[in-house]
Amino acid sequence: MAARLLLRSAVRAAVTRRASPVVALSRGMAAGGIPTDEEQATGLEKKIMDAMKTGSDPFSMLKPKEYAGSKSDPHLVPSITNKRIVGCVCEEDNTAVVWFWLHEGEAQRCPSCGSHYKLVPHELPH
Ligand SMILES: [Zn+2]
Repeated sequence: MAARLLLRSAVRAAVTRRASPVVALSRGMAAGGIPTDEEQATGLEKKIMDAMKTGSDPFSMLKPKEYAGSKSDPHLVPSITNKRIVGCVCEEDNTAVVWFWLHEGEAQRCPSCGSHYKLVPHELPH
């Protein structure tokens, strides 16, 4: 008898509990939740996030693409002027860097190893 009463009150409690409105889960704040990084980013951070979405890299933050260094596939060196100093580590385990000026125009060769480098114009994003 006691078990039946206990079961009945438990079922009644479960039914009345289900009838009450379920509170929707929110992300914390009542007015729409905590803003995401994209929603609250401003300035330079916003520009970087927008650029990353389009796949561009205006601030050269990603690892540079690798080139063969041959005449047909020279290393592309971005520059905002018509020349730039380039340092070539000719062999992977070299401790010395060969520095030379790279000028606008045809691809130039490293004076030590002969790898080809070509200057390409680069626009600063701002
Ligand atoms: Zn070299």
